[in-house]
Amino acid sequence: MLFDHPDFDAHEQVIFCNDTSVGLKAIIALHSTVLGPAAGGCRMHPYATEEEALTDVLRLSKGMTYKSSVAGLPLGGGKCVIIADPNDPKKPELLRAFAAHVQSLAGRYWTAIDIGVGPADADILAERCDYIFARASQYEPGFNPSEFTALGGFIGIKAVAHFLKYSDLKGVRVAVQGLGATGYALCGHLHKAGAELVVADVRDDVVERVVEEFDATTANPDHIHAADVDVFAPCALGAGLNDQTIPEIKAKAICGLANNQLAEDRHGEVLRQAGIAYVPDYVVNAGGMMGASTVIFTEPSREASIKQIEGLENTIKEILTRSQREGKPSSEIADAIAVARIKSEGNS
Ligand code: NAD
Repeated sequence: MLFDHPDFDAHEQVIFCNDTSVGLKAIIALHSTVLGPAAGGCRMHPYATEEEALTDVLRLSKGMTYKSSVAGLPLGGGKCVIIADPNDPKKPELLRAFAAHVQSLAGRYWTAIDIGVGPADADILAERCDYIFARASQYEPGFNPSEFTALGGFIGIKAVAHFLKYSDLKGVRVAVQGLGATGYALCGHLHKAGAELVVADVRDDVVERVVEEFDATTANPDHIHAADVDVFAPCALGAGLNDQTIPEIKAKAICGLANNQLAEDRHGEVLRQAGIAYVPDYVVNAGGMMGASTVIFTEPSREASIKQIEGLENTIKEILTRSQREGKPSSEIADAIAVARIKSEGNS
């Protein structure tokens, strides 16, 4: 059932965690520890089936290996999913019970925030586990490590603007889909740099806030991908780039923070053939890992994290330029860079 699963990619270890005393069901997947301890967030979601949870954790953990590799981090890739509703009042108990499983891996795996698990929840995990990062208590009050991710998105859009031959972001039109932790902070950076924003979210309150604060215009959430803009920035859910949406996209480039944006791998080539420069999601959204994971291997420094995140600009320019020159999808180029580093450092 596992070894011939379509998303099994020679993962080093997959652990099924169970604690009947609190009703915990969770899965940890360590995809690779070649570059360092596996690292990746903890997602809490009421998956309809265990199969869905397994598919998610297998895909996400592989994505983390590639993300850390391209970002140049001394980390491997892992991820965990807790099968539960994040609004369950038993959430703290589930987190504590789960933390004991991560602790038992003795540092082979470090975990942090993801959908359904925030920085305050990471502090609850840390009560029972030494291998937790992106905890609220590691930052000044009110700081959310998602802001590192948003900064990476801004750096990415700047790189894309240069690739499209704009001298800066003044007047560059960007459509932002999803105005949560990352999308909202990204809009702030873009507005400050003079970009014109078109935004959409399924929540009216967050849309109103962005319109008021950043002078944005709004689009229907079902049609924002088709907005007449220079850059489309998906910052909500995955799989938004698919056979139905790609022919409707008018933007010349896509650079957003959502995970797993391509519905299928082949959509990287579909985008290339449509003449749309696509910045692979795991490359541009690595800012969060770069900023938050430093506690694993060094003393955290905000300045050092920002400097490292700024380095994404050159990585993204290289990927887009190589994609154009070699006539290959940018997603394939990014994967090749990730695999080459793992092979070279794995053999050294
Ligand atoms: P979030 O939950 O804070 O925000 C997501 C927003 O998207 C919400 O406001 C939600 O209402 C909106 N949304 C949902 N469906 C929508 C739709 N159909 N159309 C428009 N808006 C919709 O999440 P986030 O932390 O901002 O993360 C956004 C994406 O970025 C996710 O895919 C996440 O996995 C990815 N990501 C986040 C981080 C991080 O540091 N937070 C890091 C890497 C990747």
